[in-house]
Amino acid sequence: MLKIESGINLAKFTSIKIGGIAKYFYEPTNTDDFLQVLNYAKNKSIPFFVLGGGSNLLISSTGFEGLVIRTTKLTSINQLDTTHILADAGVRLPHLARFAGNLNLSGLEFSCGIPGTVGGGVIMNAGAHGSSMSELVEYINVYDFLTDSVKKMTNDQLSFAYRSCILKPGSQVVLNACLRLKQGDKNEILAKIKANEDYRWKTQPLSYPNAGSTFKNFSPTQPAGKLLDLAGVKNLTCGDASVSAIHANFVINLGKAQSSDVIDLLGKMQTSVFNKFSIKLFPEWKTLGNFGNKIDDIWG
Ligand SMILES: Cc1cc2nc3c(=O)[nH]c(=O)nc-3n(C[C@H](O)[C@H](O)[C@H](O)COP(=O)(O)OP(=O)(O)OC[C@H]3O[C@@H](n4cnc5c(N)ncnc54)[C@H](O)[C@@H]3O)c2cc1C
Repeated sequence: MLKIESGINLAKFTSIKIGGIAKYFYEPTNTDDFLQVLNYAKNKSIPFFVLGGGSNLLISSTGFEGLVIRTTKLTSINQLDTTHILADAGVRLPHLARFAGNLNLSGLEFSCGIPGTVGGGVIMNAGAHGSSMSELVEYINVYDFLTDSVKKMTNDQLSFAYRSCILKPGSQVVLNACLRLKQGDKNEILAKIKANEDYRWKTQPLSYPNAGSTFKNFSPTQPAGKLLDLAGVKNLTCGDASVSAIHANFVINLGKAQSSDVIDLLGKMQTSVFNKFSIKLFPEWKTLGNFGNKIDDIWG
């Protein structure tokens, strides 16, 4: 029997600490439980949303009239052989990087400052320091909402690209992922992880709630942060939403920011870059809930 909760405030489950009330909410604790709740949503025709770490996401302060399924209690990790690890969708990437490091397995060091989950990391093809999930994924197991079935998809079927893959959020759900790592030296791996984390604390506004990079890079030589900085958006604010003084592609929540403040700020950031460079940047973030028609223009 699924114990589905109702009236849960989602703000605390996002890294930017913004969000409204979910009509229904559930946190599966194993894959069978996950499949059961997905099946329930299908049979009852309830709109659902799979929430991972909420670290690349803007949730409307007006909430969501459906079922939010949060994966972060799906935390099983299995070493399959000397180089392969099978990790549940809800495993946090920094935890997985350390877990692998302690097994003398290298490859995930880039992800230690990415506060998302394996599922979110695959969907977004999360990447940093010149590496991304696409280089590690051997296969994933996916629940397909339309056919109500589970299938295995290999790396070449996933069409990974910059911050995307072929999976459709909303109808295809990552259950777990098998990653191919390399054998390495535990001390070197853990030292690399620490260096990456230290670098982030110096270059990102990590003491404020934020959702990581706001806009996608326009091109490898024209990163969004640089264009935004040159367009002079640092310290621009709307309500309690502000562009970080440390990194122009980070929006921070100074305390009581609402999703509407963030949307207004994103509009100003986008316009500033367009006015200076005739370049339209598009957000990297996913959204959940109703934002009125303002987001259509911003997300394009
Ligand atoms: C401080 C900070 C630094 C960051 N640095 C980086 C960085 O260097 N590189 C980078 O790429 N990103 C970065 N991010 C963004 C973010 O952490 C990544 O995009 C991450 O992969 C998102 O994972 P998540 O679990 O938080 O996904 P969520 O934000 O919860 O969800 C994002 C999308 O994935 C979907 N989703 C989540 N889990 C599943 C699943 N199991 N099956 C199907 N769909 C699913 C959601 O429905 C949603 O559409 C950063 C974020 C922060 C806050």
